[in-house]
Amino acid sequence: MESSRRAFNQQAALSAAGFLFAPKLALAANDKPAILGGTPIAKASWPGWPVIGAGERDGVAKVLDSGDWYRYAGSKGTVDAFEAAWAKTLGVAHCQATSSGTTSLVTAFASLEIGPGDEVIVPPYTFIATINAVMLHHALPVFVDTDETTAQIDPSKIAERVNGDTRCVVPVHLGGGCCDMDQLLAIAKEKNLNVVEDSCQTHTGEWKGKRLGTLGDAGCYSFQNSKNITSGEGGAMVTPRADIYARANAYQNQGGGKVPTDGKFTAGGGNFRLTNFQGAILVEQLKRLDEQSRIREGNAEYLSRLLQEIGGVGAKKTVPGNTRNGYHLYVFDYDPAQFAGMKKATFLKALGAEGVPASGGYAALNKAPWVEKMLASRHYKRIYGDQRLKKWREENVLPANDRMIETAIWLTQNVLLADRSEMDRIGDAVRRIKQHASAIAKA
Ligand SMILES: *Cc1c(COP(=O)(O)O)cnc(C)c1O
Repeated sequence: MESSRRAFNQQAALSAAGFLFAPKLALAANDKPAILGGTPIAKASWPGWPVIGAGERDGVAKVLDSGDWYRYAGSKGTVDAFEAAWAKTLGVAHCQATSSGTTSLVTAFASLEIGPGDEVIVPPYTFIATINAVMLHHALPVFVDTDETTAQIDPSKIAERVNGDTRCVVPVHLGGGCCDMDQLLAIAKEKNLNVVEDSCQTHTGEWKGKRLGTLGDAGCYSFQNSKNITSGEGGAMVTPRADIYARANAYQNQGGGKVPTDGKFTAGGGNFRLTNFQGAILVEQLKRLDEQSRIREGNAEYLSRLLQEIGGVGAKKTVPGNTRNGYHLYVFDYDPAQFAGMKKATFLKALGAEGVPASGGYAALNKAPWVEKMLASRHYKRIYGDQRLKKWREENVLPANDRMIETAIWLTQNVLLADRSEMDRIGDAVRRIKQHASAIAKA
């Protein structure tokens, strides 16, 4: 009784003030921020991930009962079904399933015969797997700076890093978007470089109506637990080229590929096979992909407009030509000058206190101690020589990427699956932090 009366009084007051139909929590932006003891704005629970349905459960049970748990040469199991469905979804000729996104990249590089002595152009703002896949082949990753406005590789800076040993460029479609792919593909053509798209974060992204991952020689996808379709672990390499597909198919199965495993191995390789359990789950996950992606896209566009209204915060740009963004991540940044010089760690803490699950994203991979350790190894010294490695170190200065990392903030794809009203709450949280920026920055 007591509480309902209070609610009624509150409602009446709001109504009198003309606020009844205003967004539910717009007023709360004026209140004390949660990090300073106020009530969190966005304490709703966020959509869980992965989404699990009856289809996944049935599919896995069927594989279990069949006993055909692994994918063998000539099989007609769920992995085969998923490969066909994924190729059809993307509109690409060939799809080779692999055990992970990392092994799809490893398989792509192997299929392009990239190895020791070869140089591969990569961005510094990516998951470490992109670089690991290059280094597993003892090729040399050569970093090119980031475009701060997009968080993608800056295509205008690729040409200056190309030399006679450069074989390949790897655009990582960070967060689900992409750089100007016409520009990148033109440079690759001019310099005679292969293009491997790291599409692990963009399952629905498009360039001028064509799916990202199908524009170059090979496109690599991940189905790891956090990705926009998932089987826990898993991956796929797609390609329009029959020769690349044949090599990839052999490579992921000890060099045997579709040839029955009777000892007639035609090439080297490894075991990078996906299992039928994973295939069964992916077939089902794929059915939800488009609908979920449309929700993410709508919410992302809405949130971007909200942030723009607030000022001092803004989403990373989706470049013209990037007709659909896959939104594995929603990346935005804030201008510390408009937030009383607030440090990123403090901004993140303040957002977290309001109930917004934001993270700080990647560190600069070109400066990772691990990369330097590899370059200093006897293998890399022997392959590339002191002079090349000295030049590599001299050129490994990426100021735009360093700057961007200072203020880049991430929301993950499941956040974008929430109701539209939750986007308002994210906006309210940011607005509140801005209003109380000097108190927060000092605390
Ligand atoms: C997830 C991811 C990978 C690696 O995928 P795994 O399936 O985890 O091996 C590679 N590159 C990028 C950009 C990724 O986000």
